Amino acid sequence: MYVPEPISKLIEGFMRLPGIGPKTAQRLAYYVLTMEEEDVMDLAKALVRVQRDLCHCSICGNITDRDPCPICSDKNRDRSVICVVQDTKDLIAMERTREYNGLYHVLHGAISPIEGIGPDDLKISDLLKRLEDETVKELILATNPNIEGEATAMYLSRLTKPFGLKVTRIAHGLPVGGDLEYADEVTLTKALEGRREI
Ligand SMILES: [Zn+2]
Repeated sequence: MYVPEPISKLIEGFMRLPGIGPKTAQRLAYYVLTMEEEDVMDLAKALVRVQRDLCHCSICGNITDRDPCPICSDKNRDRSVICVVQDTKDLIAMERTREYNGLYHVLHGAISPIEGIGPDDLKISDLLKRLEDETVKELILATNPNIEGEATAMYLSRLTKPFGLKVTRIAHGLPVGGDLEYADEVTLTKALEGRREI
């Protein structure tokens, strides 16, 4: 079947996205053909902008278009609590609960010997620097409830002992082996409320 090159390129592009197979990619590509030129330009610009205009917050590691990010610069946030998450998507999941009003720290991964990811590959030294500021009283370890997430939480709890803070781990009840980002708001709120000192 003959497919003009611009369309086959677009199909290939869509297929690189997660969860999109050849059929969906094809459907999306042909849909783009029917869109108004202005809408297509807006979409193209939005794609370029997420690459070009975003950076990691120099304090918490959140993805942001201004540094420090809106959460770190929000004066109404409780600066005595830092919630440690693996990923920006987990931060978004926590924000969705609307129950948490502290700060965050995004590790950008979890310790995984199998994948060759060690503590030095994560944003841990940045976290320790933040703890030197004595306004921080509690560290909530909200890494995922799987082997890597638990190992990371244990590592961090030992590492942060000398700071004399309250270190808590979010409660189980989250699906084991699951990711925080897929937990619904109620489950996540309960996990946060039921956090225990470790
Ligand atoms: Zn930030």
